[in-house]
Amino acid sequence: MLVYINAGHNVGKTGGYDPGAIGPTGLREADVTLDVAARLGNLLRTHGLRTLGGSKESFIQARTSANRANVDLLVSLHCNAAASSSARGFEMLYYRQDSYSPCAFVLDNVRKQIVLGCGEKRWATSTYDLRMRGIIQRSNLSILKSRVPSVLAELAFISNPTEEGWLRDRFFLQQMAQALADGIAFYARKVGKS
Ligand SMILES: [Zn+2]
Repeated sequence: MLVYINAGHNVGKTGGYDPGAIGPTGLREADVTLDVAARLGNLLRTHGLRTLGGSKESFIQARTSANRANVDLLVSLHCNAAASSSARGFEMLYYRQDSYSPCAFVLDNVRKQIVLGCGEKRWATSTYDLRMRGIIQRSNLSILKSRVPSVLAELAFISNPTEEGWLRDRFFLQQMAQALADGIAFYARKVGKS
């Protein structure tokens, strides 16, 4: 399986720097997505999957490159933000019907490894009270309107002080990347493209 990784933000729609959402203590969404994109790429390759992307680019560049390379899956990484500082949790977004299944595999692995701490990886011993907000179909996100299957992971709420703290924590980011990678690898096996 060939997976295109898009680190959300970093480059805005018209070029130039786009930090994305900014947390209460100044953490930038763009820095989180770039970090997790690198971790996810490494982990997917250890699963034997091939990857593209992961560097600074706009969502339009990512979508164009993913379409052109005819990848099996485009994964866009983001942090959620809300006016209410109590909004929290993880969610997977998709638009195309064929993109629901990879969302389900990823969500299942995040729940097992992050919330329950019972993933396949022995080192995943810390659990986080990360709310599973579910899998949501969204028709208004351009990155999801690709010619290839595409999903968007909202890792946690950068606007929530507790979750911003997690998003600063390398251990949390590594566990999240691990859960995402395992979910994608399970999906690859399920569709016979591992
Ligand atoms: Zn974002």
